[in-house]
Amino acid sequence: MSRSRIIVVTGLATILCATLPLASMLYFSWKRAVSEEQGRLAVYAQRAILRSNISLDEIRSALHALEPLTMQPCSEQHIARMRQLTVNTRSIEEIGYFEHGVLKCTSWGHAEKYAEQTPVDFVTADGMQVSLRMMPAITQGNTMVAFHYHSHNVLTVPSRFADVIVEPGIQLATATDKGYVLGDLNGPDALLIRDVIANPVNSIDDDNLIAIARGPGLIAVALEPRSFLFHRMHRQQLMLLPVGLLIAALMIAVVIWAVRRRLSPLGELSLAVKKREFIVYYQPIIELETGLCIGAEALVRWQRPDGSMVRPDLFIPLAEESGLILPITDQVITHVVADLRATLAAERHLHIAINLSADDIKTGRALASVQAALRNTDIEPQQIWLEATERGFMDVNSARVTLSNARAAGHAVAIDDFGTGYSSLSYLQSLPLDSLKIDKSFIDTIGTDSATSSVTPHIIGMAKTLKLKIVAEGVETQEQADYLRKHEVEFVQGWLYAKAMPATEFIAYYQHNLAQHQGIVATTLPVPPSAPAQWATVSIDDDPPTSG
Ligand code: C2E
Ligand code: CA
Ligand code: CA
Repeated sequence: MSRSRIIVVTGLATILCATLPLASMLYFSWKRAVSEEQGRLAVYAQRAILRSNISLDEIRSALHALEPLTMQPCSEQHIARMRQLTVNTRSIEEIGYFEHGVLKCTSWGHAEKYAEQTPVDFVTADGMQVSLRMMPAITQGNTMVAFHYHSHNVLTVPSRFADVIVEPGIQLATATDKGYVLGDLNGPDALLIRDVIANPVNSIDDDNLIAIARGPGLIAVALEPRSFLFHRMHRQQLMLLPVGLLIAALMIAVVIWAVRRRLSPLGELSLAVKKREFIVYYQPIIELETGLCIGAEALVRWQRPDGSMVRPDLFIPLAEESGLILPITDQVITHVVADLRATLAAERHLHIAINLSADDIKTGRALASVQAALRNTDIEPQQIWLEATERGFMDVNSARVTLSNARAAGHAVAIDDFGTGYSSLSYLQSLPLDSLKIDKSFIDTIGTDSATSSVTPHIIGMAKTLKLKIVAEGVETQEQADYLRKHEVEFVQGWLYAKAMPATEFIAYYQHNLAQHQGIVATTLPVPPSAPAQWATVSIDDDPPTSG
């Protein structure tokens, strides 16, 4: 992902991180407000059920106290008994006695007007016939509910079935489970109550919050205007919003941390390793005497997804520091084999030099990678050269093991950037090396009168004494080439001949060079001895290198 895309994605993620927790807190505070408020309403509905049960019990016992009738109907004693029950029972307003469906007397005396028993709406499980909307014939008061049992009839006010103390605005209704409304409080909408009882669940609609309670054969509904919720929601918000803000802040912090990590040089480099964004360029190495191209140095390039190329000196130090150099070396080895497998098999004089990092040398694992990559190919180990800088020799014992193993496997080994690092001449003597690469900084001094210019001939002389082949790096001018030829330096590499180039260009370059030098054979190639015994016998100085 490109930097600008990361920034856009980060922006979006930040907005999401900020809004998501806040939005979910708002949602939760609404949900919690609804459930808390419904819980409160359900308590009122439950109380209505209790109240109704008490009323029904009272009515039932009064009727059972009168039936069967053991005294003279409508006698003084009978009327007194009915009056006593009426006065002493809270739910009962009046008791009447009927004969053949006609009212004969009530708790208040003999019936003065003609009144018939009202039509029955339903019959309870224990046999009471219930008339829901009954106008008392005698008192002419409000609508009552009548319970008729055998010859007696009890009148009660509907509010006895919803007789609960509630906060203003809350409405109640109690009904049988068959849907007959026994009583209500604060005038709820009859149609709404009918719908709720048909489908009795806690709910919320556009106008009301509704809660249900059930008792034996009874359903109670409690409802309140939806606006009552807002007050409770604000209280919830006061509790939950700080939590939401905290979560939002934490999530934003995590996003920023992740992006900073991702955008950090190390983050980018490790992603590049994962996505295998490394490719290899090849810089020809020329035999100075003949002009013959005898191989190339593999130079890694980081190819970004946008196509841009990053030079190795910009990322190799970080890769070495972080350990990412090991998988990068592996990718280089894989590319060399993939790019040049056929050419190397066809051209046995061609060699590719691969740069190894200090860690590759110390652990020796790069050698295993090379061997694994060469397996099942026609590339010969002699065609792969390995370059190691002096930094790789810091741990001289492991360096010696790795280099010996490399040479035993058939690879030629070069000391790279000679003279720029922790040079210790004893290394040159004690380590199994085939060639020495003179760093560009020394080649640059050729023809100048700088202080280091006098060092160059000494390096050349020393390499010759140690019988190391020499590769001069960074040759840019004919004057430098002439000087190196005069000093019998075997190989050169530099812009005077060619820059590092992609594999296909290098193959073309090599073929062209070969055609121009037909019949000429390279004479100075380093060949690693099959047994590196001669190195093991040289006196060894194991002191750690000193800088200089
Ligand atoms: P090096 O191993 O000394 O490689 C030679 C560098 O000098 C290369 O730079 C090459 O392009 C450059 N060069 C060659 N001839 C000339 C010339 O005539 N003029 C100038 N101005 N420069 C010339 P490059 O490719 O940028 O590599 C820089 C360094 O990065 C290398 O120096 C090497 O230390 C490291 N490197 C490159 N590829 C790898 C790799 O695959 N693995 C490891 N561990 N290090 C690598
Ligand atoms: Ca090199
Ligand atoms: Ca160099």
